[in-house]
Order: sequence, then C-alpha cells, then structure tokens
Amino acid sequence: MPERCATRLPLRADLVGEQPYGAPQLDVPHLLNVNENPYPPPAEVTEDITAAVREASRTLNRYPDRDFLDLRADLADYLTTESAATGLSAANIWAANGSNEVMLHLLLAFGGPGRVVMSFAPTYSMYPEYARDSLTTWKAGTRRADFSVDVASAIEQIRAARPAVVLLASPNNPTGTALDLADVRTLAQATTDSGPDGGATVLVIDEAYAEFRREGRPSAVTLLGEFAHLAVARTMSKAFALAGARVGYLAAPTALVDCLRVVRLPYHLSAITQAAARAALRHQAVLQAQVAELRTRRDETVTWLRGRGLEVAESDANFVLFGTFADRHRIWQGLLDRGVLIRETGPQGHLRVSIGTREDMAAFRGALQEVTGQ
Ligand SMILES: *Cc1c(COP(=O)(O)O)cnc(C)c1O
Repeated sequence: MPERCATRLPLRADLVGEQPYGAPQLDVPHLLNVNENPYPPPAEVTEDITAAVREASRTLNRYPDRDFLDLRADLADYLTTESAATGLSAANIWAANGSNEVMLHLLLAFGGPGRVVMSFAPTYSMYPEYARDSLTTWKAGTRRADFSVDVASAIEQIRAARPAVVLLASPNNPTGTALDLADVRTLAQATTDSGPDGGATVLVIDEAYAEFRREGRPSAVTLLGEFAHLAVARTMSKAFALAGARVGYLAAPTALVDCLRVVRLPYHLSAITQAAARAALRHQAVLQAQVAELRTRRDETVTWLRGRGLEVAESDANFVLFGTFADRHRIWQGLLDRGVLIRETGPQGHLRVSIGTREDMAAFRGALQEVTGQ
C-alpha cells in the first residue's frame, strides 16, 4: 500500500500530505498501547454473541433496523444501571461504529465551514481529525500543568472562541484525568449562550473510559435532564472488551439525538453489530468484574511508578501517563525490544501505558527497570 495518496488526484488541498491516523499494530507479547481491555470476552459472552449473530444472519438479505431501537433501549437501560441516570429511554441514545463515528456525526451536524470545535490540550488526538474532515475550525485550549481543567479559564477560552461544539474527554486521554461533576455542571451552565450567534455550544463529555473511574465520581450522564445542549459519549471498546465490534454511543436530549439522525449514512449500524452489542450488554456483570480488577491494577501501577520517582498523572482510566524522560523514544524502544509495546504520546517526555493482565504489568515493570537502570 502506498503511504501517500497520489498527488495527481484532486485531493482536497487541506488533506495533501496528511497521513492516516493510527498507532503501530505490532505483533509483540504485551500490547499496552491502545487502551484495549486485555481480556478477551469470556466464553459465555462469545457463545451468546455467536448465537445472536447466527440468528441475525437469517435475515441478512434485508437492511437492518436503521433506527436500531432495540439496541438503543438496551443502552439506555445499561446507563440507567451503571450511572444511576434517570429518565433515559431509546430516544435519548445514539450509536455508531465506535464513538469516533458518533463524534464525527456530532461535527457533521453542528460543525462545518465557519464554525469552531474546541477542546483542551493535551487530549485525544482524533479530535482535530474530525474537525478537519468536517471542515470545522479546530481550536485547542489549555489546561493546568497537572492536566486538570481550570474551569474559570476554560469558560473564558470558550467565550473567546465561540465554538459550536466543545469536546471534553473525562477521563481524558492521554492523561487519565477526570472532571468533577460540579465542574461539568458549571461548564454546561456557561455554554448556553457561548456558541455561534449567541446560541448554545454543544458540550460533549467523552466518557470512553467512564467505567474505570474511581469511587465517588458520578458520570455526567446524571446531568442530562438539566441541559438541552449536553451530550455524553461512551463506547463498548474499552470496558466491554469489544473494540473489534466497533460500537460507540451517546446519551443526550432527544432533540439533540434527532439532529444526529439527519447526518448518518443509511443503515450505518449493521444487523451483525446490533446483535453482537445487545448480546454483550446482557453480560455486564461478568465484564464489570474484570473492570474492577483493572482499576485495582491501575492504582497499583500508579503507586509503583511514583515509587520509582516518576511523575504520574492522576488516572480514572485504564491507562497511566508517566514521565518525564529526556529521551522518551529511547525508553519506548527499549520496552519494545523487551516485548512490551506502550505509547509514545502526550506532552514532551511522557509515555502512556495501558493496564494489561498481571503478566503484562510484570513484564512492563521488569522492562522499565532494565531500560531506566532503576
Ligand atoms: C478509545 C477512545 C474512544 C473510543 O473509540 P471507539 O471509536 O469507540 O473505539 C473515544 N474517545 C477517547 C478519548 C478514546 O480514548
């Protein structure tokens, strides 16, 4: 495959020289670079998914339910249980092939030429790409030195930029830091008239890692009844160990969801995807037990890294950002040479490790000690 799109084709000028996004997919024993769940779905889950897909395949000559109402109802039930959300039904839920596609839908509906989408750096590296693809102007605001969001400063920055959409990941990637619920509420209150033409800014809280949050941290889903312009994005890629199925979703007021329905491609969510997602949702209990184990191991990893004198960001996610290294690439390469693939990302001198199995983390610790000589 050529690395670059051919230059004689009428490629959009703003895409010339752009590379497709993606972390290296290497075949090494310890894959700790894209925040996947290290545990494959348990047998009872794969059995149920297989049966559901077999059933769905009987009618694959027909297009799927393009409004996927059964899946949306199941996702509403899941959020009601998981986050103690109230008043959610199928009409409050949207879904697509990964929450990446959900967020692209948000920008197709609310962004576009002459409009601004904003986030606060360092943050998820895909956000500027949705902006580019939807011809929306990207604006990166700033955080505090410890990567937390200074809400008063964020509001000033938002008021100056007048964005149509603000994307805020909580827990944030690559830092792992989460927003307090009170801060989300303050931001929502301040964005009712900060958008284009004095209207609202759509405030999207990207909770891809919500299930890994620490005790006593309510989800922004609990605020949904209060604001017409608030949306919370979630995914089955991380906690549900279903990254390969590509299922992401969003909870929001019905009027906001209805805007997203306009821009989706017809039948974007296949019957196979809908069946697999619904089957996995029936097994939340067993999957949540694995999440609890990963959270404990995350906290242990933070403590261990701090014990080595490293700077480690607070994490409510299934990964940890640590540093700083004068030559982070050397550390990354040294780990890779020992079969441990982590991510060279985030601010200067930092590295990010996803939380894996007990064996993965032992390999990570051993390799890091060898490479740093500590
Ligand atoms: C992993 C991740 C997602 C989810 O991506 P999917 O498309 O659902 O796999 C969304 N936002 C952030 C910040 C992430 O790190």
